[in-house]
Amino acid sequence: MTKKRTENILKILGNEVFPGTSTTINFNIAKLYTSTKVEIPIIIERSKIPGPTVLITGGIHGDEINGVEVVRQIIAKKINKPVKGSIICIPVLNVFGFLNMNRFFPDGRDLNRVFPGTKNGSLASRFAYQFINEILPAVDLCLDFHTGGASRFNAPHIRVDPKNEKLIKLAKIFNTSFILHSKNLEGSYRATCAKKGKDILLFEGGKSQNSSKEIAVEGVHGVMRVLDHFEMLDDIFEIPKPPAASIVIKKSAWMRARYSGLLHIKIPIGKHVEKGEILATITDPYGKMRHVVKAVNEGYVINVNEAPIVYKGDAIFRITRELGNE
Ligand SMILES: [Zn+2]
Repeated sequence: MTKKRTENILKILGNEVFPGTSTTINFNIAKLYTSTKVEIPIIIERSKIPGPTVLITGGIHGDEINGVEVVRQIIAKKINKPVKGSIICIPVLNVFGFLNMNRFFPDGRDLNRVFPGTKNGSLASRFAYQFINEILPAVDLCLDFHTGGASRFNAPHIRVDPKNEKLIKLAKIFNTSFILHSKNLEGSYRATCAKKGKDILLFEGGKSQNSSKEIAVEGVHGVMRVLDHFEMLDDIFEIPKPPAASIVIKKSAWMRARYSGLLHIKIPIGKHVEKGEILATITDPYGKMRHVVKAVNEGYVINVNEAPIVYKGDAIFRITRELGNE
């Protein structure tokens, strides 16, 4: 966030956006088979006063609705009108997946595994390439919103590379329930940002194809705290006070189902459990078998598989193993 802009014109996809303006640029990536245009609106709000540029994105995975909802609320509540600097919102990055309620691009690729993309590659790869080369250079800080995949419900957390102290500090300012130490995945948006020296906080909360009010609120409040930290948030907003400092998670592990059957969850997401505490039961459909799932260690349950039926070996609970000492 130290970059000084001399000319103070924001260049996005070949467009010049001037200070003190509001604009929407459509990112046209490809048409549908029917020749129908697919447009990805990029909503830009600029203050006349110079400052950082923050990019807020949702829906890299098209079925992660809760992330889209966070960005939508930020726009609807006008949190994206900065008193200094610029805020760029892209609520739905993977419009194709969003329309189909699917994680992927129409070419079957996971957009978040093809970054930084290639000019003449698959559709997802071309999209990533244009995004990285024509949007990202204008940006100082990225806030990217995700949910757990399939039926796995994530407790709200920020993922950061444990080696990046600057981002850990920012994650603490965002101040959601948990901060998860996690290495950057090759091909991800986050890894590309790291390589290009762009700060990024990745928010995870809730599950795909689902909307949770509580998760959305945690996301929106975190954004407000970060914007306030950079003196970008309008003082008409009250800064939301977090209930506690984020719990830093160094290690966590999945517990897997030991039996196939109907899964009945007995604890709320985010709960601190003791070793041996009852987390769920797995039953057969015939009222004969009932297996009790007990916590294998003490810790916080940061992900719960909310699938009604599971196979033996399916990941069902992710429990913290080691917490940070901060
Ligand atoms: Zn995701």
